[in-house]
Amino acid sequence: MKLAGRMGRLGTETAFSVLQKAKALEARGQEIIHLEIGEPDFDTPGHVVEAGCRALREGKTRYTPTAGIPELRAAIAGDVSRSRGVPVDPEQVVVTPGGKPIMFFAILALVGEGDEVLLPNPSFPIYESMVDFAGGRPVPLPLRQENGFRFDLDEFRAGLSERTKLVILNSPANPTGGVLTPKDMRELAGILRERPDVAVLSDEIYSRLIYDAPFASIASEPGMGPDGRTVILDGFSKTYAMTGWRIGYGVMPKPLAEQVAKLQVNSNSCTAAASQYAALAALEGPQDDVGRMLEEFRARRDLIVSGLNDLPGVECIAPQGAFYAFPRIRETGRGADDLADLLLNEAGVACLSGTAFGRHGEGHLRLSYAASRENIVRALERMGDVLARTP
Ligand code: PLP
Repeated sequence: MKLAGRMGRLGTETAFSVLQKAKALEARGQEIIHLEIGEPDFDTPGHVVEAGCRALREGKTRYTPTAGIPELRAAIAGDVSRSRGVPVDPEQVVVTPGGKPIMFFAILALVGEGDEVLLPNPSFPIYESMVDFAGGRPVPLPLRQENGFRFDLDEFRAGLSERTKLVILNSPANPTGGVLTPKDMRELAGILRERPDVAVLSDEIYSRLIYDAPFASIASEPGMGPDGRTVILDGFSKTYAMTGWRIGYGVMPKPLAEQVAKLQVNSNSCTAAASQYAALAALEGPQDDVGRMLEEFRARRDLIVSGLNDLPGVECIAPQGAFYAFPRIRETGRGADDLADLLLNEAGVACLSGTAFGRHGEGHLRLSYAASRENIVRALERMGDVLARTP
């Protein structure tokens, strides 16, 4: 079968292929500690599960409006309006199966042949994959440990060209755990204000998973709101431990929301009804579980960061958000791909090479600490053994 040429431009997400490799090793009897996949290991809060089940029992088992049930769109509009301090009309909201389709749809709707897209590197690999697929040209903005994995503003300015169509931001960030400060946002907005033709995709999926700093969104800056040129991507997967429910959303200018909904009607039709009712309960119900999960993530972060810094040749700064540690492993004398393979095959620790997130991820590993403290301690011990054994 001869595939269309565009398929050669589509990338993938390494986390899923490493998970498959790890599962194959497990099937052969090896015990694996999973630090590769980015999903909370907690159960979805009970009242949210109950709302989903109730919806099914009440016969909410049919198609819904393409952009989502009106109650959920209104609740999201209210929540985003409060948390980002901007007016949001429910018609600006499109509910999708996970936040990922917002990336896919917004990029397809905005980026044409030869358009340039400024994006962080290392970053979530789907950004670059989607830009390539759409025929655009990804322009990488290096993120460095020395700078807390924040942008260098001069590099940001220099990355903008006549052809720039879109800028992608992700704070708190996958894979680095870096967070852009309110001052960063002000400065970025200052630069972007000179370029009103450039759209922004702000991936805020980890907006509630932030430890030490306040959350800042570019959309809160004057002239940068989701009624103008910013698409806010957020969702329920990470905040409410709902990865398998497949539900997320985008908030964007109304004309773009109409196009994104059109892409949705051409693909998924709508998001599963029960997941939408569960998400409504997540937003409107008690938020205690979110706070509890955050505190547990904080304890695991402190544990993994101090354990990593005790390993020879490993240096890890404390991630400010999300649930990934991104240690520098250059001094171990091994490349990131090599070390990630070695840890999986020889120590049964599944994690990702930094190169899975772009070439500036070389010299780093990504370890998800959405795993029990016990498993984090065992993984650190095994890593210590491997590093002690290898030259
Ligand atoms: N954005 C980032 C940066 C992510 O890390 C992820 C998931 O790993 C997503 C978006 C998509 O999440 P979902 O589609 O499960 O809502």
